[in-house]
Amino acid sequence: MSCPKCGSGDVMLLPSNEFACKHCGHKWPIPQVDYSWVEVEVKKARLFERYIDAPIETCERLLAELAKELNERDARILAAKILLMRAYRRRLSQSELQRLHAEADKCFQ
Ligand SMILES: [Zn+2]
Repeated sequence: MSCPKCGSGDVMLLPSNEFACKHCGHKWPIPQVDYSWVEVEVKKARLFERYIDAPIETCERLLAELAKELNERDARILAAKILLMRAYRRRLSQSELQRLHAEADKCFQ
């Protein structure tokens, strides 16, 4: 951290949650870290676990559930991921695998 005004690295943290430059006296707030993407990732992981073994076989229905909690783009990607991961987890036959892959493709149509 260095002073945005004079560039000095001689900076201290104030109890008011501000930084102050010891060199020029400039004060500025601690930048707020945006954690919203972490919440989205946690939500996706939670949804993945909830639906990976759910008896929902079509992308359409899966999307309808996921879209309640995610934006459309995230919901489509997650729905496809769930269908494909399910195929790998279940060690399906070739024809069942193809059906799940085809269903996953529908998520992007
Ligand atoms: Zn300064």
